[in-house]
Amino acid sequence: MLPAEARAEGILRILLVENDEGDAARAAAALGDAFGTRLALLHAGTLAHAIRLLMEGPVDVVLVELDLPDASGLATLAGIRGAAPSIPIVLYSRALEESVAVRALRVGAQECLQKSATPVEQLPRLLRFAIERQRHLAALDAARMAAAHRATHDPLTGLANRGLFLDHLDRALAFGARYGRKTGLLFVDLDGFKLINDSLGHAVGDRLLVEVAQRLLSTVRRSDAVARLGGDEFVVLLPDVNSRLDVAHVRDMILACLQEPIDLGDDRRERIAASVGGAMSPLDGTTAQELLDAADVAMYRDKYARRRGRMPTPAFGLRVQDETIAHQRELRLRAALDAGELAVHYQPQVDVVSQQIVGLEALLRWHDPDQGMVAPSSFLPLAEDTGLIVPIGDLVLREACAAAVSWRRDHPGSGLRVGVNLSAVQLREKAFEQRVKRILSETGCPADALVLELTESSTLYEGDQALDTLRAVRGLGVQLMVDDFGVGFASLSFLREAPLDGFKIDRRFVARMLTDDRDEAIVSSLVSLARGLGLHVIAEGVETADQSRRLSALQCTEQQGHFFSPAVPLGALAPVFRAHPPAPPSTRRLRALPAR
Ligand code: C2E
Ligand code: CA
Ligand code: CA
Repeated sequence: MLPAEARAEGILRILLVENDEGDAARAAAALGDAFGTRLALLHAGTLAHAIRLLMEGPVDVVLVELDLPDASGLATLAGIRGAAPSIPIVLYSRALEESVAVRALRVGAQECLQKSATPVEQLPRLLRFAIERQRHLAALDAARMAAAHRATHDPLTGLANRGLFLDHLDRALAFGARYGRKTGLLFVDLDGFKLINDSLGHAVGDRLLVEVAQRLLSTVRRSDAVARLGGDEFVVLLPDVNSRLDVAHVRDMILACLQEPIDLGDDRRERIAASVGGAMSPLDGTTAQELLDAADVAMYRDKYARRRGRMPTPAFGLRVQDETIAHQRELRLRAALDAGELAVHYQPQVDVVSQQIVGLEALLRWHDPDQGMVAPSSFLPLAEDTGLIVPIGDLVLREACAAAVSWRRDHPGSGLRVGVNLSAVQLREKAFEQRVKRILSETGCPADALVLELTESSTLYEGDQALDTLRAVRGLGVQLMVDDFGVGFASLSFLREAPLDGFKIDRRFVARMLTDDRDEAIVSSLVSLARGLGLHVIAEGVETADQSRRLSALQCTEQQGHFFSPAVPLGALAPVFRAHPPAPPSTRRLRALPAR
């Protein structure tokens, strides 16, 4: 006997969707013979009627002729599926092309039958099969979902397990590396949990863990991931933080939320202490394992400091020896600044229509006597985190302004500009505009010779105060460009509202535009966007003649990249100026930046 019959003493509700009266009568008779009094047969002659019946009450299976007065072919099937997504559907059609049948099965029909090949007497059996198969698939789906959840979650607390957490962490780190954001991690370990578990029993221990999980979840932001690594170890991922202060803040909130006594049943309320250690990428590590290790070590330090009755250390994720190294690196960088090992190189920006240099970007270089040339990406994060970026930024600004003065003196009327990169930390400085003003006046640099480059995130994340600062700087007559435009989060309305003069198209788009149509489309729309908003646009990372030509064809004529020249020291610019002589006053092709 079929399981379908074993299932229900109950009624079998079949919806027959059939316009032809003779066919309908034959099918009804066969079903009546097979199911007798258990059959509740509904009949619709149109799709609209069928949908109405499906909405009105439960149906176990639908038997459908695709060709109806108000719909035909797959549209009929789609209509039925829409009204009854989880009910098995059996097609029983006069004309059923092979290709239609295949697609019907793909979009969810359980069975496709030709009337000519399937006598009505077979229908009862086939309908029961369809119901059974559907039920089986649903059970399988549910089991698969439950298994997926079990494989990625801790059964006791329902939190993510280690595997899923590492996944999240990897993704956050990749995102951070790409957009220059920092990822925070907190390692939470309960103090004395083993004692409670051993003395009061596992049930109480479990209850405690569940409560801790709840508290962690309600303390952190929704975007922060909480996981149980095992035992009494929990971790919290802060996927996007500005600084260690943010990590420390969440750490304090976690300690506070665990301070309330926990109800363990039987009128027993216990206060539980926890040790929490923090770590932050990229300073404490750049891989998931490095960061977990760092937070783990910090957590242990916190625990031992507490045991010895000391106030918890500002527990951060550096191993003692790493901390020494970081400290030494900071000292090295500071010494490098004092010893004049930091230099500014300049990379030209060329207007390819006139082949003239229109500006140069100042790029920082560290000539370490031991390590040779150190790339800015490997010491800027340290400089930002320690605040050293402020004096370093001053140095770059001062040198760049002085350089601009010398270029304008050597090439009168050229209107040459110098681009200087700004870090978000500098924007946070109070009276940053005063600093800029002072440097301009001390170097004798006209404000319109200076272009500050900032990334989308630095303005977006630093909020209103940063915008005020930018407005003040722009009020001096200095121009502002968004760097690496298109890879971050700036919305289009941001471009309109923020005090900006233009943007630089990120070199990743330029690098791929010849091989990937999508990148070319992005570059093309960025150029129209700039044009539409009256903004200035420069393409970065131009490495080949082909890229340069394609960009010009898209009306992006100001370009920068190795194709023209890498960044070179101030004293080595002569050949660059010879190859692309800046405009003398008479032939000046340079468009003034739009006044805004
Ligand atoms: P950025 O502002 O996007 O600078 C452009 C980077 O692209 C520079 O890397 C430049 O050397 C490189 N580049 C130029 N042309 C090409 C090309 O054709 N192909 C390729 N693949 N790369 C090209 P660099 O000098 O290593 O600087 C890296 C980043 O460090 C800069 O990115 C900027 O964000 C930051 N930076 C550099 N100097 C300073 C500074 O003085 N202050 C601050 N706050 N950041 C700086
Ligand atoms: Ca730049
Ligand atoms: Ca850039």
